[in-house]
Amino acid sequence: MPLDFLTLMAVMAANLFMISAALPMIMGRDVGRAARHVQASMLLQAVAWAAIIASSTLWDQALSTVSIACNAAAQWMLYRALEEWLGPRPLRRVLLALVVLAPLGYTLGFGHYAWRVGWANGLMAVILCIVARATLYPRVLADGRWRALLLGCLLTSAAFTLARGLLGAFTDQYPSFRTPHPINLAAALATNVSLVLGTVAVLVAWRYEAEQKLRTLAMTDGLTGLLNRRGFTTQGVSLLAHAIRHQLPMTALMLDLDHFKRVNDTQGHEAGDRALQLFARLLGDTSRSGDLVGRLGGEEFGVLLLHNSAPAGLSFDRRLRRRLHAASVAELGFALDYSAGMAVMEPGESGLAELMARADGALYEAKTAGRGRLMAAS
Ligand code: GH3
Ligand code: MG
Ligand code: MG
Repeated sequence: MPLDFLTLMAVMAANLFMISAALPMIMGRDVGRAARHVQASMLLQAVAWAAIIASSTLWDQALSTVSIACNAAAQWMLYRALEEWLGPRPLRRVLLALVVLAPLGYTLGFGHYAWRVGWANGLMAVILCIVARATLYPRVLADGRWRALLLGCLLTSAAFTLARGLLGAFTDQYPSFRTPHPINLAAALATNVSLVLGTVAVLVAWRYEAEQKLRTLAMTDGLTGLLNRRGFTTQGVSLLAHAIRHQLPMTALMLDLDHFKRVNDTQGHEAGDRALQLFARLLGDTSRSGDLVGRLGGEEFGVLLLHNSAPAGLSFDRRLRRRLHAASVAELGFALDYSAGMAVMEPGESGLAELMARADGALYEAKTAGRGRLMAAS
């Protein structure tokens, strides 16, 4: 059965429009920015294909320019979705410049056939390669498979786009609607397959994003934004393993607000909540990147100081205490104090629970010794 190129293109455009309509329905209203970028990308691609088909019968220059602009913008949107999912990506400015230059150069040089075809397809191939490259980093991540799939789709599209550009610029057999060429059919088929698999890839990426959000939520304390006990334990265990492997010192602190029940009773539960938020903020301000801070229960907090031993624990406590005394009166209108226990990791120590239990023992001593102080585990 002979395959008709124009039919394939029309089916492709129809599929893209259907995906563009279906995605918002599947994803629902409450989606993140990455998902919105993906939806915009699909819609732009659909418009691009519809415009290129229409351009064969009317307004050739205007519609084919619109098509190239939409196609380039679609890749830009995909790149932005990748930024949302994976963090800053390389070559952002170059990509943005190419996205503008591709349709501009095409329409300015429209009178020169080889130029416009070579320019538009050549730049589109580079754009696709830049977006493909954006799927590559970081290399080690659990979510590697959807990125590999997307990479394959983008590189396939780039290869066919480049081939069409080279044929158009340097030979007299440019594969267009009017001059059918075997590469046209191959390109249309490959683009169709890339579309299907690319859609699967972004749907998996989106699901991964939702999963990540849930995981973060399950590890975070809603009131203070700190890690909760589960998050603190999970991350603390790997931090401890890292410290043991590299023979780095590590210090644990357990902190508990003093007479907090009384704060609630005299100032009200809301003031108590604000006090917890303030204390959490000061803990964050006092710690350094790499340290771990969590709310382990009601008014009880844990800190792990990586690369540090007793002097750092003492200095942490001193800085925190100074900040708390100033800020509690200024921001809450009443004084707030805490007791703390410190334990420095010992050579034979193997578990986080063991280390935290020793810090907790020291905290208990600080409480019985009169509160408002730091005690170190012997
Ligand atoms: P101590 O100095 O011995 O630690 O005395 P304390 O009153 O701080 O300790 P206790 O364990 O008797 O009371 C802890 C209080 O913390 C009781 C509880 O109502 C309060 N609390 C726990 N979670 C929250 C919270 O999320 N918000 C507020 N406002 N209070 C909380
Ligand atoms: Mg307390
Ligand atoms: Mg307590």
